[in-house]
Amino acid sequence: MALLARSSRRILSTPRPLFPRGPSLLSKRFLGIPSAFLLDDYLPKYQLLTSVDAAMKRSHAYAHLRECNLCPRKCGVNRYETTGMCLIGAETAKVNVIAPHRGEEPCIQGFHGSGSVFFSGCNLRCVFCQNHDIAHQRNGFDLTPEELADWYIKLQQIGNVHNINLVTPEHVVPQVALSILTARDMGLRIPIIYNTSSFDSLDSLKLLDGLVDIYLPDFKVWKSSTSKRLLKAEDYTSTAMESIKEMHRQVGDLSFTSDGIAKKGVLLRHLVMPGKEDEGREIMRWLAENVSTDLYVHIMEQYHPDAHVGKKKRVTRRVRMGEGGETTTEKTRYAEINRAVRDEELGSVRDAAVKAGLWRFCEVNENNSAFHL
Ligand code: SF4
Repeated sequence: MALLARSSRRILSTPRPLFPRGPSLLSKRFLGIPSAFLLDDYLPKYQLLTSVDAAMKRSHAYAHLRECNLCPRKCGVNRYETTGMCLIGAETAKVNVIAPHRGEEPCIQGFHGSGSVFFSGCNLRCVFCQNHDIAHQRNGFDLTPEELADWYIKLQQIGNVHNINLVTPEHVVPQVALSILTARDMGLRIPIIYNTSSFDSLDSLKLLDGLVDIYLPDFKVWKSSTSKRLLKAEDYTSTAMESIKEMHRQVGDLSFTSDGIAKKGVLLRHLVMPGKEDEGREIMRWLAENVSTDLYVHIMEQYHPDAHVGKKKRVTRRVRMGEGGETTTEKTRYAEINRAVRDEELGSVRDAAVKAGLWRFCEVNENNSAFHL
């Protein structure tokens, strides 16, 4: 239990308020939230489900696990007996870390942190994965939906976090749905965030409809050739398009209460990749034309070579008879993305977004005493 024990120590420390007299005293005008995205108050969507809706969701969750086509891999396996490509069974989800997290966007982490649950395993195989020790190596602890629900309540009551942030949950959606329904009965009252690669199926998003308040999808790359090479999923882009449209249909544009904390809507992330700024520009144009020009977008600059990128690979070639046996050379894997992103690449994606009509950007580095909205 080392990791969870470490997490619980972090949860048990009482956060020091940033605003001694309480954030609610900040005026709406000071934060500058456009009225269209300002909420007087907010009740999480799962609180509004009837007991019949909740029972149907439970029954669908179990049915999906018996024939899993939950993500676009469509393995069709009975996860009570075997595992599909994600390598996770039915009874539990594997979790790496549970803790209040202050590395998210300001409107998500707020004053006390976002209650993050990092799931192990993934249905993508990104060669540059920035979390590969968690996503690819399946380190962690097996927790039942009931145990997960217990942790959500601890995060709420002891961590005083603003939300429950489910990170890389695409392959454990039934377990997640069951955990939210259990936590609701135990007194959970903070919004649920579904923090996803967007490699989700519409079936899976249907199960989440009414349980999730904020979708935090990535839109990673645009070309199928790129997704095939770098994510090991040729159909990533078409899947992400359908998924993001459905997420936006369910929860709309990102909206806040007057303290500047996001409560509902879509916050879209795009990590600009070295040499792939043309794909970032296409993504911005598509979002503006097909989702909403009011979409809240975080154009991220923190790409760094990780996982398989930059590793050396020995390549042995046979040479023609009479000219010797074999030659061995060393190649750098995925050399085309083995560097940081340049300012001009970031700037060109940002310019394309503005030109397309997007205007709500997350500026995490801005020196601003309030949240940037
Ligand atoms: S969630 Fe896992 S088992 Fe189900 S379809 Fe996706 S990869 Fe296969």
